Amino acid sequence: MRRKLVAGNWKMHGSHTANAELLAGITAARPFGCDVAVCVPFPYLSETAVALAASEVRWGAQDCSAHEQGAYTGEVSAAMLAEFGCRYAIVGHSERRQYHAETDQQVADKAKAALARGITPIVCVGETLAQREAGETESVVKRQLSAVIHTLGHCAGEMVVAYEPVWAIGTGKVATPEQAQAVHAVLRAQLKAATPQADAMKILYGGSMKPDNAATLMSQPDIDGGLIGGASLKAADFVAICRAAS
Ligand code: PEP
Repeated sequence: MRRKLVAGNWKMHGSHTANAELLAGITAARPFGCDVAVCVPFPYLSETAVALAASEVRWGAQDCSAHEQGAYTGEVSAAMLAEFGCRYAIVGHSERRQYHAETDQQVADKAKAALARGITPIVCVGETLAQREAGETESVVKRQLSAVIHTLGHCAGEMVVAYEPVWAIGTGKVATPEQAQAVHAVLRAQLKAATPQADAMKILYGGSMKPDNAATLMSQPDIDGGLIGGASLKAADFVAICRAAS
């Protein structure tokens, strides 16, 4: 039985005041029967670390550089994130792939850099609506995951995978539990062919997961939790999803 993980992706939202209220609302609801994390904008890592220091809720970043250090203006290295106590780094989110033209190989290199510093990469894969309608869902997610598996080699079992259909992110359109499970099963099979740890690995679903659909999605055999965007910004909603995972 895999322990579920619910990770919030705050994206580019937050302020000192809003963060303090949100984190207080989450910590007040502990303990949870699942792993819980919040992935916050870089400038808020420090205050998040302080706010969550006495709790089992973990914190992470929404990206990390593939480079160790150097002349990469605007980038943040995994070593820096590790100094802030980050446990997770989202890599390959569709918004990064789309708006920053990140390639499968760049995403894989970021995942490798995170792991090298003891940070678990949450590797996002997912198809666009056009790709789904063209029957390409399976080939797209397998191609995206394959680059990471190949790059991580014997460490592949240490990542978390997040299946995030692009058409479901922030749109209110959620994949049905059956649609999501079908892709998760494909990903699990791909992981099984690559690492003996596949059965223990977490594959999260992300894409308009909310309190009212979380339990059904997470009852699917290969859905091991959620990567939550919009609903992670309201403590009551995020906590309700964590309860559904517990
Ligand atoms: C996300 O951005 O990772 C996400 C899943 O967003 P939302 O829950 O808002 O669809």
